Amino acid sequence: MSTAPHPPVVTVVVPVHNEEPVLPELLVRLRQIFDADARIAWRAVFVDDGSRDRSVALITEAARLDARILLVRLSRNFGHQSALAAGLCEADGSDAAVTMDADLQDPPELIGEMIEHWLRGAEVVRAVRRSRQEKGLRRLGFDLFHRFFNQLADFPIEADTGTFGLLDRCAVAAINRLPERHRFFPGLRSWVGFTTAEIHYDRQERAAGQPAQTLRRLVRYAFDGIFSFSYLPLRLLTLVGIFISACGFALGTFFIVRRLLGVEIAQTGFTTLVTLLLFLGGGQLIGIGILGEYLARVYDEVKQRPQFIRRESPRDR
Ligand code: UDP
Ligand code: MG
Repeated sequence: MSTAPHPPVVTVVVPVHNEEPVLPELLVRLRQIFDADARIAWRAVFVDDGSRDRSVALITEAARLDARILLVRLSRNFGHQSALAAGLCEADGSDAAVTMDADLQDPPELIGEMIEHWLRGAEVVRAVRRSRQEKGLRRLGFDLFHRFFNQLADFPIEADTGTFGLLDRCAVAAINRLPERHRFFPGLRSWVGFTTAEIHYDRQERAAGQPAQTLRRLVRYAFDGIFSFSYLPLRLLTLVGIFISACGFALGTFFIVRRLLGVEIAQTGFTTLVTLLLFLGGGQLIGIGILGEYLARVYDEVKQRPQFIRRESPRDR
């Protein structure tokens, strides 16, 4: 926390992709919160992640009326995590940053509670979901992911946390220094450490509009989480390999001994052979696929492309 005599600067970072239906309400609610707490010098950075609706116009208009609101535009749609990273870069130098989704699933009214924890010395505040509203396939996916991810990850990443939370400037700087491109924000936030506090909340339903994240993107995001925080898939491959080799060795020995003892070999076994062949072939392809997931990520990191490209920033104006 800042010890400067002027009020500490807190930047609220909001990635936005086609959020026209929810933006008016979000803006109103954020400004109410800003007005209610004069101890803080508030800023809200909206990162437009290639929206094709009127999101940019709405934010530009709000920024014109209220100097606390800023717009960062990316050159195209880079995805939630990249937009978040762009916002956190913009928050560099603030005393703290609050990260949240635009769709009001993360109620902005909780920001006050986060600020209290921060003023009392917490450097990271995570909002933990007590419940969520999603249904069907999406819900099943979220539940399965959170259930298994903790067991997969090489270090503990708390279940049921998403983007929503607060980062002190030291945590913002630490996260901004991480160069990786396949970002899984909840994991990175745990990874950087610092004194962490938790608040609990019921995740709301999207206030309006459709989820901007398609199911495919969510699956990719889950994979990013698993492959960047766990070597378990690779280790499992080795274990399965050892197991199958051991079986092969035992079976081989059995047949050789039988042969040496002069037991007649019957001309059957076609089904067994085909089954084994397909099973092993399939297993090997899965193995190559898992290797490929890691390799593709390594390749992406090596290419060193920036995580996002800005079209314009508040500083340009
Ligand atoms: N978002 C983004 N770029 C995208 C997709 C989503 O910036 O390509 C933003 C979106 O506007 C929202 C947040 O990321 O503020 C979370 O998106 P969404 O609500 O669709 O995801 P979910 O709630 O399903 O995780
Ligand atoms: Mg959402």
